[in-house]
This record gives sequence, C-alpha cells and structure tokens, in this order.
Amino acid sequence: MQVAIDAPRHAGLASTLDYLHDGALEPGSLVRVPLGRREVAGIVWRGAAAARQPGTVLRPVAQRLDAIGSLAAPWMALVEFAASYYQRSVGEVALAALPAELRRLHAAQLAARVRRSQRGAAASANAAAPAVANAVLTDEQASALAAVDEAAQQPRAVPLLLHGVTGSGKTEVYLQASERVLARGRQALLLVPEINLTPQLLARVVQRFPSRRVVAMHSALTPAQRLQAWLVAHAGEADLVLGTRLAVFASLPRLGLVVVDEEHDASYKQQEGARYSARDLAVYRGHLEHVPVVLGSATPSLETWQHARSGRYRRLPLERRIGGATLPRVQLFDMGSLPRATGQPPPALAPPVLEALRQCRDRGEQSLVFLNRRGYAPVLQCVDCGWKSECPNCSAWRVFHKLDRTLRCHHCGLTEHVPRACPSCGNLDIQPLGRGTEKLAEQLAAELPTARVARLDADTTRGRGVLEQTLGAMHAGEVDILVGTQMVTKGHDFRRITLVVAVNPDTALFSSDFRAGERQFALLMQAAGRAGRDPCQSAGSQMWVQTWHPQHPLFAALRRHDYALFAERLLAERRAASLPPFSHMALLRAEARDAAAAATFLRSAAQLAAALPEADGVVVYPPVPLAVPRVANIERMQMVAESASRARLQRFLGAWLPPLHQLRGQVKGLARWAVDVDPLAI
Ligand code: ADP
Ligand code: ZN
Ligand code: ZN
Repeated sequence: MQVAIDAPRHAGLASTLDYLHDGALEPGSLVRVPLGRREVAGIVWRGAAAARQPGTVLRPVAQRLDAIGSLAAPWMALVEFAASYYQRSVGEVALAALPAELRRLHAAQLAARVRRSQRGAAASANAAAPAVANAVLTDEQASALAAVDEAAQQPRAVPLLLHGVTGSGKTEVYLQASERVLARGRQALLLVPEINLTPQLLARVVQRFPSRRVVAMHSALTPAQRLQAWLVAHAGEADLVLGTRLAVFASLPRLGLVVVDEEHDASYKQQEGARYSARDLAVYRGHLEHVPVVLGSATPSLETWQHARSGRYRRLPLERRIGGATLPRVQLFDMGSLPRATGQPPPALAPPVLEALRQCRDRGEQSLVFLNRRGYAPVLQCVDCGWKSECPNCSAWRVFHKLDRTLRCHHCGLTEHVPRACPSCGNLDIQPLGRGTEKLAEQLAAELPTARVARLDADTTRGRGVLEQTLGAMHAGEVDILVGTQMVTKGHDFRRITLVVAVNPDTALFSSDFRAGERQFALLMQAAGRAGRDPCQSAGSQMWVQTWHPQHPLFAALRRHDYALFAERLLAERRAASLPPFSHMALLRAEARDAAAAATFLRSAAQLAAALPEADGVVVYPPVPLAVPRVANIERMQMVAESASRARLQRFLGAWLPPLHQLRGQVKGLARWAVDVDPLAI
C-alpha cells in the first residue's frame, strides 16, 4: 500500500512509498515504516498501489498507530491540494501538518498520551462557570450573522467577507456564529494572526463557552501541548479551535465553520517549506467540506476585496463602531514645515504632537506611539572617518541597542558589544544616526517626565510572559504611553486609548515592493482603530501622522477612514500594470555563496522555461537581487514568473520545477532554491 512519508520533492525520493501489510489498512491510518536504517512516521495514502517494479522486495509496515482514528478524506484532500498548488510533495505537506510528537512517538507511547489526554478531558469538563452573556447584536451584526447561518444551509455557499471598521463588533459575530455551529454539534475553527493570539482573546472565548472544550494551537506551545491540542481536535472532543496559520491543517472531524480574523495579515503566509497561505487554504477547506468561511477585516487584502467586488465572495459590511463610538480625527503634521537649525536633525516629535500627548496624559487617557523600527538607532557612525556599523555578513547596517550596548544585525542575528572607539580610525566619537523605538521611548520619558511610558517590540517581548505583562498593564491603565513597532497596532481591544501617533510611516510610500502601499495603509488604519474604542471617550480621540509627504493620496484616504477609496485606487493601478490580483505570480529564489552562482541557476532555469510548451501565456522576468541581497554571507536572487491565468501558471510550474531539481546539481555553489507561489513580498 502507498504510505506518505516526509520527503521533500527534491530529495530524489517519492513522497509516497509502497509497503506491505497483512490485511488492508484504511487510507488515513497513521503508521511507522522502515526507511533505510531508520523508522519514520507515515500516513496510508489513498489510491491504488504503484505498479510494482519486478525484483523489488517490499518491506512491511512496522507499526500501526492504532490509538487514534485515521485522518479523514477531506483532510487528505486539503493536503493534496496544498501540495499540488504550492509545488511540494504530498508527504512533506502531510507530515509537516502533524505535530512533531506524533511523528516521533511509537504506538505504545502514543497510546499512553491518548489515555492521559482523555483523563484531562474528563477533569476539565466539569469546571464550568456561568457563561458570559451574548451582546445584543446591532442590526448590522445581526444581518451578518444571518448571512453566516444562511451560508451554513447551502452546500455551495460563497465565502463571506465580514468587512467591519475597527471596533464594529466583528469578534462578537464570530463568537455568536460559533455558538450556533456548536449548538448543531459541529466544531468551529477560528484563525487569528500570530500576535493576536493573546491571553485576552483566548479568555474572551473561554468565558463565552465555559462548558465547551476550547483549544489553542500556535507555535509557542510546547511539543507536548501541541500534541495534546491536536489529539483533542482530532478525536472530535474540541468544540472550538483557536489557532494561528498552522491550525488550518487541524484534523476536525465535525468541522462546521471556519473564521479567518484579520484576513489581510501577512502572518497567514508560511515563509518556508510549503509556502502556503492559511487564508487561501481556509477558503479551500470550507469549499471542500461545505462549511461557511468568514474572512474578517477592516482592511481586506486586495485579492479578497476584488473577489467581493466581482461577486465571488459576499461582502457583509459593519460600517459603524459599537455604541456610537466614532473613529479618531486624523491630522497630518508636515515634517517639512519644521524650522531646521542647520546641522541639527529634526526632533522626534513635532511640538503639536508632543502637546497632544501631554494633554492626553493630563486627562488620564492613554496614547499609543508607533514607529516601525526597533532598537535605539538603526546605525552607528564615526563622525571623523564616516565608518558605519555595517554587518560583516549581510548587506545591512547593524542596529544599536542601548540597553545592553550591543550592535545587532536584524538579518543574521550577529551581536557584538559596541566598540569603544571607531574600528577604522580609533576616534572615540561614534554617534547613533536615526531613531528606533528604544530611543523614542527614552526621549518621550525625558519630555514628559510624569508619564508612565512602556515599550512593546520584538526586543522587549523576548522573555516569556513579557508581552502578556505589558498588554495587561495597558489594559489595567498602569501605562500612559505605549511605544512600539507594528506589534502595538494590531487587534488589541484597549479601551482607554484616545490618541495614536504614527512617527515615520514614509519609507513604505516609495518601496519597490508593489504591495508596500497596501500594507502601509492597512497598518495605519489598524493603528487608527486602536483609538476611541470606548464610546464615552471617542468623540475627542485623534490620530497624528508625522510625515514628509502629506500630499500622498494614502493619507487623504486615511483621513476619511475610507478603505474603499484607497482600495479602488490601488486596484486601478494594479489593473493597469497587470499586477495581482489581476495576474498571478510565482517567485523562484536562489541562494548561493556568490551572486554569480545564484544568477547562473536562475538564468538556466529561464532557458528551460523558454523551451517548455507550457510556458505559453507565462512571462518569466530576468533575475534580480533581493532588497537585502546578502544575509549571513549568502547571496540571494529571485525571478518572477507571471501569468494572467492561475491555471496556466500552475501548469507551467508543474512542468518547470521537476527539471530544476536536476539542474540544481549542475550549478556549482548553489546553496538552495525554492519556489513561492502567490508571494506576498517581492
Ligand atoms: P472588532 O472585532 O470589530 O474590533 P469587537 O468584537 O472586539 O470588535 O467589539 C468591540 C467592543 O464592543 C468589544 O468590547 C465588544 O465586547 C463590544 N461589543 C461588540 N458587539 C457588541 C454589541 N452588539 N453590543 C455591545 N457591545 C458590543
Ligand atoms: Zn572613524
Ligand atoms: Zn548580518
């Protein structure tokens, strides 16, 4: 019988192999099989056995992991789709979708874990507290909920886009839709971006369904916890699974609803291995299993927006904030209007912005200051000879972190103490250039000494529990000003923020990545959405944007909180330039010790493509270096293949990639290559 094992397509090994077993094993059964001298986990795959080669002696299946039931046909169909669409092997995708522990344990060990998990279930089931009551839905929320119900009755319902401004009660709709699904004896899958899976959201869900089994699935779980959550879901005991992108592959025998919150969020795209979009797979899964899919966002991705415009998705608008709360007034500060003392850098915060922060603090309200750059300063410079804190391994500067006086490369991680003198000329005067969140928080604390300033970014949240602590302090009102990277802008339901400041959102306006504008707009809309969520305080709430380019159309749309206006504009540009969603792309990326090897591989790949009949209707662009070409001494280049037709691009990739596996061995110095279908960053 055919058994899927974890073998990437390029390993030279088929990802399903033929094994013997006394008696039939159901497709989807978990087994352990010999592979060379090892024993590996596998899944009995459906379909007839491959034609047996004369003379090969098949080896028997070593063990059946019979403590758990087999994986269902729709789960296998989802894996097959993902493997084929993202150009990976079935075995690789299937095994990567299982918790690592499940791949490691032998039958007896797994049986013991399953027994323990069942005992845990019995203990937690009677810990029921009274449920937190449902909110009385607004008319908009009620129609959205009715549409989800309606979709649940239809075998072929279109995906639903819950397009609701920040604070319009989208989460409440997810919860009540889940409640109905649970009442029908089905399971709900709620996907959220990585950063949104805070204890607050989990607590909100658990409080709403105290007598139900809610499990979380995300990358911060220990391997044992991950296995436990997976087993509970697979056994059909979990009623609601709340998880990040990997949860889209959860085994859910009674699935009744899929929700993707903040569907535009880039963290739904896996960035290695099979580079899948969990959002897109969620839509496909709903289609396979005939269950409604709800994509929620205040700022949908242009792909989703275009589907809603064309009628492939149904848009459910929530145009008003709950309780009559208003969106903040957006004001632009033109940094060019500041008088400049010669030779002096402009101040971090313009006087009216600083004044607004002071007043907010004096009213006892909270504010949020957002700067998308962490560390103290992005570069150190010698004032004498011009030396800069370059990373020896990357084409990037190393960032100055003041707290531990280090220079850290944010690309390869190289960390060293700040030199006492300039390494090049010995001068003692080396100065930080520019500003990151660490410096901004320090300056704010100096300017507003009575304010309690906290910082939230990848540096401050490295320790376990720190993110939760800072968010908790913010919710408890123990912080006046929260400074941070985009981490602070997403999802959080802070009740007391009335002022949001965006410090330097300009770099994205002129990026070479065609999606930069879309991302930046979503980010600023999300940031604005953190202010004035409490209806009692929302009237005076405001957002300040400090920019050198106040005329940019992005800001005009932001001031009006008009997502549709900006989306229409971007779509028109994309249509004119034949860019997604009006075309489909795949990236071929090559990494090598020297750029020439990477370029050679890509150029040979382009020659191969040109000879393929399947390349008809597909354009393959010349290789270009990445925005940061060298990371950890590896040069990175990429090449775009584009087609107006998704199906053509798929056919082309199917014909193009197999010969590339052979080509790989012929290019000396090539470290690795990968394909990214529907890439998010170009
Ligand atoms: P979103 O997910 O759109 O940002 P939430 O669902 O978090 O919005 O709702 C914002 C706030 O309003 C939350 O505190 C939520 O409890 C509350 N809320 C949501 N719907 C209602 C309602 N119909 N009546 C009263 N409060 C509501
Ligand atoms: Zn120097
Ligand atoms: Zn580096």
